[in-house]
Amino acid sequence: MAEQHRALITGASRGIGRAVALRLAREGYAVAGCHHSGDDAARRTEEDVRVLGVPCYFARCDVADPAAVEDFVRAAEDHLGTFDLVVNNAGITRDAPLVLAPADDWDAVLATNLTGTRNVCRAMAFRFMKQRSGAIVNMSSVAGVYGNVGQTAYAASKAGIIGFSKSLAKEVARHGVRVNVVAPGFIETEMTDALPDRLREQALGQIPVRRFGRADEVAEMVAFLLSERASYVTGQVFQVDGGITL
Ligand code: NDP
Repeated sequence: MAEQHRALITGASRGIGRAVALRLAREGYAVAGCHHSGDDAARRTEEDVRVLGVPCYFARCDVADPAAVEDFVRAAEDHLGTFDLVVNNAGITRDAPLVLAPADDWDAVLATNLTGTRNVCRAMAFRFMKQRSGAIVNMSSVAGVYGNVGQTAYAASKAGIIGFSKSLAKEVARHGVRVNVVAPGFIETEMTDALPDRLREQALGQIPVRRFGRADEVAEMVAFLLSERASYVTGQVFQVDGGITL
């Protein structure tokens, strides 16, 4: 019988995280997902994963809080067993030009996006090293690679994820653990729904394929990087962006 993979996904209730949860469930993986506070969306995703016939566990967990992360990981292990895959997808934006941006927004964005990724990797990496297998995908953004107007905090957090992931990839490679980064462009989710029409139009004009991406198109890349099909791939950044950065 094929080995049962177990994936832990942050921000799994909506958008890209939800698409990743469903994609991995279709692979037959057991899925644990956390969200911050939107319980209804989390319940819907949990039900949709369960319908696919895999074991799953969904709960609230603020990834910015290391103690909460450790509690979530332990509870997920109690329900599902030992994990071998992680997707750090939870993320927030607080867009504003630097000269108008409150310091609190900087703190919130860095805490969720960058420190959250660190907290989950800190909890899981040691477990993966001990079992000498595991794969991690961390969600960055093209804003973290190229920068973006109004996104100094967000871009800093997403660029930080890239440096963090490359360093961690070097640390854990000899223990059989791979770490990669996915950097999406504009993907249709509630995060991009919040963009003003003017910015949406502007963005569309810059995307060679002339459309925003779908969450399942990002999930496809995540599924590949977590799988054995990517067994010789580590420390890399993969853009899923319709060519916006060409
Ligand atoms: P959404 O806003 O649609 O969903 C965000 C998810 O993250 C929700 O499940 C949310 O839970 C969760 N979340 C937010 N804060 C926390 C927290 N502190 N602890 C745990 N979970 C949290 O985002 P997207 O699906 O659009 O984006 C997913 C990832 O992809 C993010 O990292 C984002 O930066 C990145 N990305 C997205 C792009 C896009 O165009 N959509 C482009 C490039 C990168 P809850 O609902 O409970 O708050």
